Amino acid sequence: MEKLLPISSPENIPQEYRQTPIGLLLEYHNLNRPPETYDKAQLLIGMCMDNRKHLHIPDNFAFIIRSGGANLRYSEFKVSYAIGVGQVRHIALIAHNNCGMVNLISRKDEFIEGLVESAGWDRERAEEHFFHYAPMFEIGSETDFALSETKRLRLRYPKIRIAPLLYRVEDNKLYFIKES
Ligand SMILES: [Zn+2]
Repeated sequence: MEKLLPISSPENIPQEYRQTPIGLLLEYHNLNRPPETYDKAQLLIGMCMDNRKHLHIPDNFAFIIRSGGANLRYSEFKVSYAIGVGQVRHIALIAHNNCGMVNLISRKDEFIEGLVESAGWDRERAEEHFFHYAPMFEIGSETDFALSETKRLRLRYPKIRIAPLLYRVEDNKLYFIKES
């Protein structure tokens, strides 16, 4: 928790994100700001595919890329599309606690067994699949990964403002992940 900045009033939003679509995201989701009408997306949200999360945001407010661990390394064309064609200038990268992309190796047997039982894969192919992809999708720590992914994206898209956030599944609230 010491790495997280709770947002329970508009004054808690860090200065650099106030009056931006990232500040608005926090106001809509955490502070029940009444929804406004949008005719185009204001920002891009990157978040995990995990089913426990639901954002309270207005219609048309955001592009959303959902990918395990909020890992956008393999979604770069879509990020570029949201910027180049969708004209967004802000990205909210939303990690969450208890993410399944942490410590994937602990779910290896379950993963392989599930593919064999449910999808009809043969065991050897399922094992190969796991060992090929698990290192690409393992994130290590939700918050540390979100911070490093934020840094990577800032280098890649230097004029875009990017904020690392965390969705806590216990209270369904968004927090800023403290940088530095
Ligand atoms: Zn996750």
